[in-house]
Amino acid sequence: MYESSKLSLVKALTEGIQEVVFIMRVEEEQRFLYEFVNNAANSIIGKYAVGKSFREVLPEEIAEILENHFAEAYTTKKIIKFEIRVPHFSPENGYAETTLTPILNSNNECTHIVAIAKNITEEKSVKIEFEENLQLLEETKSEYRSLFDYNGDAIFSLDLEGVIQDGNPMIQAVSGRTVKELKGENFTELLDYKYREKISDAFSLAFTGDLKSHRIRLLQQTGEKISCLIHFAPIKNREEILGIFAIVKDMREIDKLLGQYIQSEKNFRIIAENVQDVVILMNHDKEYLYVSPSSKKVFGFDNTKINKKAPFFNIHPDYVSLLEQKFQHSVSEGSSFTIELKGMHGERGWIWTEINGNPVYDAFHNFRHMVLIARDISLQKENESQLEYFAYHDSLTSLPNRRFFRNQLSEALAKIKAGLEEFAVVMLDIDNFKYINDTFGHETGDEVIHEFAKRLKYSLDDSDFVARLGGDEFIILLPNIKEIPLIIEKVKRIQKAIKEPWLIEGSLISITSSIGVVHIKEATFTASSLLKMVDDAMYTAKKAGKNMYYINESTSY
Ligand code: GH3
Ligand code: MG
Repeated sequence: MYESSKLSLVKALTEGIQEVVFIMRVEEEQRFLYEFVNNAANSIIGKYAVGKSFREVLPEEIAEILENHFAEAYTTKKIIKFEIRVPHFSPENGYAETTLTPILNSNNECTHIVAIAKNITEEKSVKIEFEENLQLLEETKSEYRSLFDYNGDAIFSLDLEGVIQDGNPMIQAVSGRTVKELKGENFTELLDYKYREKISDAFSLAFTGDLKSHRIRLLQQTGEKISCLIHFAPIKNREEILGIFAIVKDMREIDKLLGQYIQSEKNFRIIAENVQDVVILMNHDKEYLYVSPSSKKVFGFDNTKINKKAPFFNIHPDYVSLLEQKFQHSVSEGSSFTIELKGMHGERGWIWTEINGNPVYDAFHNFRHMVLIARDISLQKENESQLEYFAYHDSLTSLPNRRFFRNQLSEALAKIKAGLEEFAVVMLDIDNFKYINDTFGHETGDEVIHEFAKRLKYSLDDSDFVARLGGDEFIILLPNIKEIPLIIEKVKRIQKAIKEPWLIEGSLISITSSIGVVHIKEATFTASSLLKMVDDAMYTAKKAGKNMYYINESTSY
């Protein structure tokens, strides 16, 4: 019975057990010899180990390790466990966890030691991999940690209930309290009351993957409310959600900038929508970003239909390149510009337009857009030309005035200096004009002056230049005239025209004038000296009895 049970035990140990089992007999002087080796052990130790020592069947370093462990088990009489690296231990280097159990006889002497070695190669490699992973994890963790610690945004790590577990240093800036102080508090308690419910909902939604950002205000203990943007991010381990990160961006600075922008945008709209001038916002590509409603009134274009139009679509082609040049210069220099040009009016055609451009940049000095103010200056232009007209014309007769005449005279003198045309100057003064004024009144005097001018005009050629010097004095420039008889002919034509009857307040009267003439052939005169000369010639005619002409042919006066 004993034998059979012993046999079946041996059989079980030999064949049935996957672990390496061997029994060492303890000889004198602590020599250990193989007494039993099962099948699993055979493949490592070799078939013929029984009766041999470790050193006889195993590599020396392994034999030594084993001897030491067996000696310990022998001396202590206790069960010993150790791990050993076994070369060629299926299939390559392997690990064995070995348990040594001392067998004691009735005298409490250790006679045998049973060794059961479990192949733990696989477990060990998992463990090694695990350790390697752990190290990797540590590295990622430290990377993560620095991202966490040095993040510009405040990051709270919350558990599944929303209770604060940890946070980075930035949370102090937004909450006014340290991480240590906040640990254990529910995150929603940091919020201004009116955001608590909304953020509780957002927190729950974060578990379902809904990760929208929300504007909130954090309530500091001082009562100060900090405007922030929050979003939640689940902390996951594979598929399991372990907690939630609450990432909170301090929006105070951004809000300030935005506020300024919105305010200026608001102001801009209020002004733009109400001014008479047309306000246009144009980007770098000269696309119309905004055109104020006044464009309908000023240029006959519907502002809502302009945004798709080509750059400067309504600018006269003569001015486009100059305008583009000014635009670019203004963008690069940051300076404003003004240009007068012709712009197309939907119904009126080309109208004089003044465009004033002001470049606008963002906080980082990047060009944002050009604010262009366009106004219709056609009336102003008209006024200007009107003013110019009045500056050079006499209002009573509409003839050119003294200033205009002097300019013409200077031009004529310049021409003669250049060896071009000779010319003559004729001066007339109405004889006894005071009498008309005195007899018929000033207004009738005016009418006479007006009529006198007309008669001068129609008795002359278009190329002749008649001006009123003032009072009852007129002057004529006869260009390109070489012969005195031709001058005389013209003077006679004038006299004839003046001799025509004058019907003044129902009575026919006669009007005459004294005429002085100077013929200029050389460029030795100034305008002033010439005017003096012709005045003298006219005065000569006056002195000689009026109603006659006097020609000064002298060119060396
Ligand atoms: P004379 O024959 O020597 O030229 O004498 P006159 O009476 O024509 O007088 P004179 O040429 O010396 O002066 C011109 C006068 O014309 C002086 C002024 O009272 C008058 N007068 C000047 N300008 C105007 C004007 O715009 N309208 C009217 N009605 N009279 C003017
Ligand atoms: Mg006179």
